[in-house]
Amino acid sequence: MNKEIVREKLLLQVEEDGADAADQHPCCPHGPTVLFYRQSETPSDGFYACSAHRNPKLCDFRMDKIQWEGNRLKRLHNVRDYPESTMDSDPDPTNHLKALSQDEVHAQYFFDQKALEFFADQCRLLKINQVVCMGAPRLHFHLRRNHKIQSFLLDFDERFGAYLSPQEFCLYNMCNNHFFYNREPFELFLKCNNNDRVLIVTDPPFGCRTELIAHTLRSLVRLHNRINCLPATPLSIFWVYPYYMTNYIKQDMPELQMCDYKLNYTNHSRYTNVGIARRSYGSPVRVFTNVPLELLQLQPAEGYKYCDKCQRYTGIENVHCDRCGNCCSQNGQTYRHCQFCDMCVKPNYVHCTNCRRCSQREGHVCALYQSMQRCWLCGQRGHIETNCGLWLQLKRRDRQKKKDRKDQQYGCIICGHRGHSERKCTLRCRYFKESQFMGQALIVARNKSNQKIRKL
Ligand code: SAH
Ligand code: ZN
Ligand code: ZN
Ligand code: ZN
Ligand code: ZN
Repeated sequence: MNKEIVREKLLLQVEEDGADAADQHPCCPHGPTVLFYRQSETPSDGFYACSAHRNPKLCDFRMDKIQWEGNRLKRLHNVRDYPESTMDSDPDPTNHLKALSQDEVHAQYFFDQKALEFFADQCRLLKINQVVCMGAPRLHFHLRRNHKIQSFLLDFDERFGAYLSPQEFCLYNMCNNHFFYNREPFELFLKCNNNDRVLIVTDPPFGCRTELIAHTLRSLVRLHNRINCLPATPLSIFWVYPYYMTNYIKQDMPELQMCDYKLNYTNHSRYTNVGIARRSYGSPVRVFTNVPLELLQLQPAEGYKYCDKCQRYTGIENVHCDRCGNCCSQNGQTYRHCQFCDMCVKPNYVHCTNCRRCSQREGHVCALYQSMQRCWLCGQRGHIETNCGLWLQLKRRDRQKKKDRKDQQYGCIICGHRGHSERKCTLRCRYFKESQFMGQALIVARNKSNQKIRKL
């Protein structure tokens, strides 16, 4: 068997909103730090590190939790003075400033003209008149030229302070919701009239932890509600991130869905639709949003079409699957439905009967692959259905006769029939009780009496 190396996940904890001094995290020059700890340890064994710099060489702040508890310093709030501004109101500086493209810090990549127009189009359709550009400077400069939309830029790049007044820019860390200057002008910006419609657009570095961004977005929404004396009311969110991060985003913000628009950048050789390094299926970057997808419009001239069945726009390459009831492609290729997996898969994938799933052919090692899968019966990661301990217990309890190997490979494990998988089996509810929490399925076995009630 292939020896498996599992890298232990580093969990993290952010400062609580409105936490009192005792719960506060130490500050580095980039605001409150984040508490990191290993999955196998408790948070009290953890350490604090910079929220924004993903390489210790760039911000070497590190303090053990125990040490911080020991000498609980008074938290220092480093509010800086706003820099002298030249306030040259016309030229968009993102055209001539050198982009800070170091991926472990700013990862500054600017939208192309089409992407800018995509955002402006959606704002018009959704009647948005106020936009918070969180880590989206070029979008800010694009929108401020449009007189019907007010925009405020929150960004970690201090150079924008030379072009924008405090009424429209604040130096800010989106990994910990830290304002480096006075945040009153931003609060004033958030103060709304009844018919104002606010949108938050964020394009964080793709190396950012999604937990941190989600936490910050929720904090901004709460701030907006508090300022306007509103009950818990959502704000529209556009979170720009690659399609392959869908599962992370869904876990942290289950209310977000992926829109199929592919965003391109002017200074990124891979995430663009021009040049040799460009990807053959287009940029992998998408918009995740809580705005219903049927309200967004993508241009046919740019390679999109309307799907009548899904009632939303999608890429022309995306073919509707009646079995899944969706246009399933995520990566820009045309997916195909696999009858054994009972879902749509990437076109180059091949079905592995051992693993009961489709996967890439190159480098496929069954044992290693299975150790990274989520079980379709119990929902746990680390094994597949044929090795599910919980299911084995349930079968023993019900004295079910053993299914032969063939049935296990091709049919549904629960009922033995072909043509659907355990995920969609109608008998599932006899054995499992399921609920959703924070975008993750919680699955537990039903107890026997419960099961009898169901059968009656
Ligand atoms: N596509 C966008 C720019 C995205 S690049 C546009 O064209 O408008 C990412 C941006 O986020 C950069 O401007 C960078 O300075 C900013 N940024 C990076 N880390 C940040 C952080 N921790 N907090 C706030 N902004 C950050
Ligand atoms: Zn399908
Ligand atoms: Zn398959
Ligand atoms: Zn396999
Ligand atoms: Zn299982």
